Amino acid sequence: MNERQQLLAKNAGLHRQEMFEAERWLWRHPQTGYTEWEANAYLIEKFEAAGYTLVRADQDPRFGPIPGFYTDIDTGRPGPSLCIMGELDALDIAGHPEAVNGMSHCCGHNCQAAGMLGLALAFKGPGALDGLSGRIRLMLVPAEEMIQLAYREELRKKGVIRYFGGKPEFMYRGYFDGIDISLMVHTESLGKDLDFLGFSGHNGCMSKVITYKGKSSHAGGAPHLGINAQYAAMLGLQAVNDLRETFLEKDFTRFHPIMKGVNCAVNIIPDEMVIESYVRGSSLEAMVRENGKINRALAGGALAMGAQVNLSDRPGYAPEMHDMQFSALCEEACRELVGEKRVDFPNALHPASSDFGDVCAVMPGMQFYCAGAEGAIHGTGWYITEPERAVMNAVVVQLMITDKLMSDDCARAKKIIREHVPQFASVKEYFETVDRLMLDVDALAFEEDGRVRVRLTNS
Ligand SMILES: [Zn+2]
Ligand SMILES: [Zn+2]
Repeated sequence: MNERQQLLAKNAGLHRQEMFEAERWLWRHPQTGYTEWEANAYLIEKFEAAGYTLVRADQDPRFGPIPGFYTDIDTGRPGPSLCIMGELDALDIAGHPEAVNGMSHCCGHNCQAAGMLGLALAFKGPGALDGLSGRIRLMLVPAEEMIQLAYREELRKKGVIRYFGGKPEFMYRGYFDGIDISLMVHTESLGKDLDFLGFSGHNGCMSKVITYKGKSSHAGGAPHLGINAQYAAMLGLQAVNDLRETFLEKDFTRFHPIMKGVNCAVNIIPDEMVIESYVRGSSLEAMVRENGKINRALAGGALAMGAQVNLSDRPGYAPEMHDMQFSALCEEACRELVGEKRVDFPNALHPASSDFGDVCAVMPGMQFYCAGAEGAIHGTGWYITEPERAVMNAVVVQLMITDKLMSDDCARAKKIIREHVPQFASVKEYFETVDRLMLDVDALAFEEDGRVRVRLTNS
């Protein structure tokens, strides 16, 4: 750590108490995507008390009100803009012993958000910006977890949001305009021996709502008058399961449906079964290709039973491709902070998905994992056990990365930005591409003459 980085780390250390308090407060106030109003209000108050002027996503006259905000720190010297972000949302996981209203921070976003407060306070410290150039945007983003698809679709139809993920929604609103490079650190349970873990990227995903429609009737007395939507759904899922051996290893295809249940009783033939799922993949091309096969299989289940199936596909997250030069810079900072042996940056893809991928689709970006939790992520045994690692280490390493990027007239940031080859030339081009993933179709049409038409595309 050089002298400037030591000063920044010292600034952060002075606010250890506030950060750790924020981590606990946010843990006790978990809310799922686009409803994180408590965390939003709490952090707005803290940021404003620290002297920041915020651009708030709930006060943007052009769009519907959602949680989240950003603030800009200008060093006063020209240079590129770095965005550092933290996520606000919790998970829908009622089985967690510390769940509040069925929700819990089993992905550790409370640590990220507390860390953002730590960064904000550290950058206000004396001498913090001396020697740095360019601009730093600190951003709190809602709705990273792609869940509660029916609620998000409702928000979309009302025009409150256009995209289910918070980061693409922020991109659509222009909150990333002028940003040149982006950084995020995510909490994980990495055991005792590892402090930081960084992958070359993450899987992409698209979201699906699959609605099988049948006909209700008496389950004992007149099943011949009904059409069982649950059986149709089971056949459709079985057909997808039989497709799995055709998925290529390199594509990292994942299909993990949940049946949302039927709205009837045991003595009624179920007339509807709603399934939510993702199709994940390491490239957009793979996601589109495999999703086409999956939709065909799902339609097959309906056809077998004489049922209908409505397919509703939405853009999820782009495959997250990290900038490898930026990744090397982050790995260097991690090693300098905790030692070489406690850092692992394998050249491998992580099969989970994040809407940070959407950001990486249009600019150099890097997201990596920081230890400090225990238990399986997204599981009922997940706890934040070591805030010193989960929050403080994450804050200090992000300060070190900022220094590496923005000192020396932003020499290293400029080199990364100059040499980066984005997947899409612009945000506009990116959205034009993912918007084509949208699908709304009743897949089958039963003609009077006995023919059945199958439609797997928008008309
Ligand atoms: Zn998660
Ligand atoms: Zn997460």
